[in-house]
Amino acid sequence: MTLNKEIMYRDLECDMVIVGGGIVGTTLASALKDSGLKIIIIEANPLEVAAARKQAYAFSLLSSRIYQGIGIWDKIFPHVGKFKNIRLSDADYPQIVKFETKDLQTDYLGYVAQHNVVLTALQEYIADCPNTNWLCPGKVNNVVYQDNFATVSVEVAGKQQQIKTKLVIGADGAKSHIRSLANITTRGWKYWQSCVAFTIKHTAPQNDIAFERFWSTGPMGVLPLPGNRCQIVWTNPHARAKNLQKLDQTAFLKELQHYTGGLLGDLELVSDRVVFPVQLMQCDRYVQSRLALVGDAAHCCHPVGGQGLNLGIRDAATLAQLLIEAHQQGEDIGALSVLKRYENWRKQQNLAILGFTDFLDRFFSNNWLPVVIVRRLGLWIMANIKPMKMFALKLMTGLKGKAPKLADVANS
Ligand SMILES: Cc1cc2nc3c(=O)[nH]c(=O)nc-3n(C[C@H](O)[C@H](O)[C@H](O)COP(=O)(O)OP(=O)(O)OC[C@H]3O[C@@H](n4cnc5c(N)ncnc54)[C@H](O)[C@@H]3O)c2cc1C
Repeated sequence: MTLNKEIMYRDLECDMVIVGGGIVGTTLASALKDSGLKIIIIEANPLEVAAARKQAYAFSLLSSRIYQGIGIWDKIFPHVGKFKNIRLSDADYPQIVKFETKDLQTDYLGYVAQHNVVLTALQEYIADCPNTNWLCPGKVNNVVYQDNFATVSVEVAGKQQQIKTKLVIGADGAKSHIRSLANITTRGWKYWQSCVAFTIKHTAPQNDIAFERFWSTGPMGVLPLPGNRCQIVWTNPHARAKNLQKLDQTAFLKELQHYTGGLLGDLELVSDRVVFPVQLMQCDRYVQSRLALVGDAAHCCHPVGGQGLNLGIRDAATLAQLLIEAHQQGEDIGALSVLKRYENWRKQQNLAILGFTDFLDRFFSNNWLPVVIVRRLGLWIMANIKPMKMFALKLMTGLKGKAPKLADVANS
């Protein structure tokens, strides 16, 4: 891929600097294509390296609608896993909650997208955005915030550059340097668990079901990928996750067969097993004058239910909408009063999902009999009482809560 604007950029004044060219940062830049705002994205890694991460994500209906609104979903859609069914179960307890497309009258209930598919599509889209340029690979050393502008100091190819901008966006992930430089404090905790993430090939005839199986050791998400493959995110206590990573393949697949309940037929491991520690984190504030945080820089959640990236995509689409509106009305896009609209919209919604994922993990990673009885009753209620079922389904698919205008497209 030729990104001819990479590194060549020497105009050091712009409306917005986005630090972090991951999926969330580039979604924000893409959503601002026609805004008339001049944008620079600073990404620490070469673009190909940033896109090469071997991870796949559950991709909600709302995220797919946002990408339809931007105009890149047609590029992504042929390469994603698609699921028409979601099944939630408590270990091997026979009461399974089944969600189907007819519940929402949609073609699919969600998708599973590989990082490189989504990020490459976004990078290519940005290559055609005349208002957006890359500084990449670039390392931000410092940001000085003043009343009317911010100055970002960045090292690119061994040279120091200064960029004067109205607004800085921290889209630089969970360990955000931009957040630390601004002294924005966070709240949250690290879980006693880690996730083992990997891809398998299987022989099950049906490959359009997403499973979430809750074991007392932690939830296991099974997400269908094209070509009879699945991405599995298997949460376990730290030591057990490390052991699963080290187990020889035969023993590992035997263990996996047991925990997937034989639902996937014969299994073959087709990727490395990567272990991620899990945390819940929310910033005390998402914005200050001339700064906004989006995606994992602002919040992180347990991967149960596959929500983290979807929240970040929603942050990006919401912020883009509010900045476009402010710009059209002649407001200063870096003013705190403008940025507060974004925080007021997104912070509570994100907190609700963070709380929901935390509740799910704690409630199901528990073998105390009264809790087991209550949650099995809960599963029965979810399976049999329609409003409860619809509430859970809308939460999982991103269709609960106020959606950004970009998602105002026909059914996906
Ligand atoms: C095991 C696991 C499974 C998951 N599964 C799902 C799922 O199924 N669905 C889902 O929605 N979410 C899932 N998530 C969450 C998801 O991975 C994150 O929410 C998402 O990747 C965050 O995207 P981001 O763009 O905010 O940050 P990142 O993906 O971390 O991107 C940050 C970017 O900023 C760059 N960067 C960092 N520092 C700097 C700097 N100082 N200067 C310039 N650039 C910088 C990085 O190189 C990177 O490109 C999962 C997470 C885990 C751990």
